[in-house]
Amino acid sequence: MREFAFELAVAASLEAATDGLVARQLGTRDRIVDLVEIEPGPDFSERTSLTAEPIPPLAIESAVGVGTARDPVEAIDTDPDHARSVADQAIEAGFFTAERRGSRRHVRQTARYPDWFAGLHAYENKPDLDRPGDLERQLRKDVSLALFDTVTLVTDSYVTGAHRNRIPEVVGIVRFDAEHGETTVIRDAEPLSTETTGIAIGERSPARVDIEPIPSERKTALRLRLAERAYGKGWRPDGLPPCTQADARGPPFASDDALPYCQWKGRFVHPTRECGPDCGGHEAAEPPPADIDAVRAEKTPWEPDPPGAGRTQTSLDDF
Ligand code: SF4
Repeated sequence: MREFAFELAVAASLEAATDGLVARQLGTRDRIVDLVEIEPGPDFSERTSLTAEPIPPLAIESAVGVGTARDPVEAIDTDPDHARSVADQAIEAGFFTAERRGSRRHVRQTARYPDWFAGLHAYENKPDLDRPGDLERQLRKDVSLALFDTVTLVTDSYVTGAHRNRIPEVVGIVRFDAEHGETTVIRDAEPLSTETTGIAIGERSPARVDIEPIPSERKTALRLRLAERAYGKGWRPDGLPPCTQADARGPPFASDDALPYCQWKGRFVHPTRECGPDCGGHEAAEPPPADIDAVRAEKTPWEPDPPGAGRTQTSLDDF
């Protein structure tokens, strides 16, 4: 099975099994992780009712609070233009509200930023272990940096002892049947030390390997960025192909989804990489009707239109 279709099936299965959220293809400090699962924290519902969008990390980390309105240029730790832009994004997201102080715009938080995630779990999908690519090195980097609480390899392959020996011991291994959505745990993932200094492994040459210590505070900031991006992004592709052959459906074990299936190719397709006039089966049409946000809202705790968003427009309209 192709990696993209496998990844969609893994994401659908993971989403059904978690009370948190799943996101796909997220950039970390030095690589793209296939899937990230957000484990809910104590204030998870406060996050879902705050905004459906990612909140800019600089706004969260700024000196802007709930109580007193502040000039964003003074309160957000970046250059003035960027501070204004971050404030705009935070207002649009519903995290800041704006008010006038003379000729200047001041902002305050609409709500305290909640303690909403308790863990971040990474999943690396490799359906065919006989074509591992860079897998082993990527997993060793993940373990060394320990940005995620756990790291798990998901595969469709029979896992031999030789495979197991090549994968770092703390990395979990799961065999996944993408047709039936069945999971077999070969080895549980062990928790990583997210609250201590990690070592980022960089470029490698025959003579040397670049490494960089990443202190725990920096890791905490990176985890916050990841969690916010994951919250906003989710895992479903943004749109369906504008083609007569396109259909919106899920994998066989969760058919009521809205993923890009191509009847001509008889499989899921990546809309931006595979679809368009260059494809032999392409025939232009409206994309199949599907509300991807509605599907995400139905299957997860994510709220597409939370009450916090109402405050946003009022604040923007004032300016
Ligand atoms: S463009 Fe090609 S791959 Fe995409 S849906 Fe149409 S026929 Fe399928």
